Amino acid sequence: MSLVIFSHGRCLSYDVGHDHPEAASRIHAVQDQLLSSGLEFVVQQRDASPATREQLCLAHCPAYVDHVFDAVPDTGHIWLDDDTQANAKSLNAALYSAGSGINAVDAVMQQQDTQAFCLIRPPGHHAEYKAAKGFCMFNNIAIAAAYAMQQYQLQRVLIVDFDVHHGNGTEDIFQQEPRVKFFSSFQHPFYPYTDPVSHSPSIVKMPLAAGTTGVLYQQRFTQEWLPLMHEFQPELVLVSAGFDAHMEDDMGQMKLTELDYLWLGQQLKQIADQHCSGRLVSMLEGGYEHSPLARSVVAYLKGQL
Ligand SMILES: [Zn+2]
Repeated sequence: MSLVIFSHGRCLSYDVGHDHPEAASRIHAVQDQLLSSGLEFVVQQRDASPATREQLCLAHCPAYVDHVFDAVPDTGHIWLDDDTQANAKSLNAALYSAGSGINAVDAVMQQQDTQAFCLIRPPGHHAEYKAAKGFCMFNNIAIAAAYAMQQYQLQRVLIVDFDVHHGNGTEDIFQQEPRVKFFSSFQHPFYPYTDPVSHSPSIVKMPLAAGTTGVLYQQRFTQEWLPLMHEFQPELVLVSAGFDAHMEDDMGQMKLTELDYLWLGQQLKQIADQHCSGRLVSMLEGGYEHSPLARSVVAYLKGQL
């Protein structure tokens, strides 16, 4: 097997405000931990390429994509929603974030038993078909899924989202898409305050109370999700990998630890191995407290080795 990490310097070259939790130092912390853990010498690191307008439009309304390009100024910034500040550099980074998912899909589809992790920012899972939301401009994982279906004619794409926040954008984009099965676990009630009940066979939700521990999380994942994931028989596994459900991350109030992320890496790798020759692509979403984020990413990747 081989594990490939896609990233790009542009993803570290912007700032959305002093003391903002979604900062470039998140990526630096993960890079440092990859080095000190020794994983740096096991994985392949590759530069991502930027997504094209056409690729963004695989998952977004063309008028929304045009609006973002037209509205973001050359200097200064605008607000695309109450939480999502954008400037020329962050728009550029968003293109590389989305592009990394396309690179990663190509890598795992074209080479046997390959897993990929996209170490990128801004995140994507809150961005809806025609709206930015929650630090997210374009929905990276949805663009990757739509690209995989178009380019490789896939009929069954599994998306798993274990960020502490519900992946409302991914649900919005794929709620009527029979080729996608989207599983999202999230603290509830909590931002973005979406409906905790699924109204589509493509969407599976696991709302979790604040204070949920790793023991309970693993129990529910095993009992409620694993049978459905195997039944779906995915041809590709995509993961919105957010690490803000860690007990040391103040963004949420859940109680997972890096051992739970190690376990998640093992479970998702097993599903990919059993059904689709190990094709597994994970993309960074949230995770804001540097040390637990970095430890959790490394544990999650070790789970795939
Ligand atoms: Zn989050």
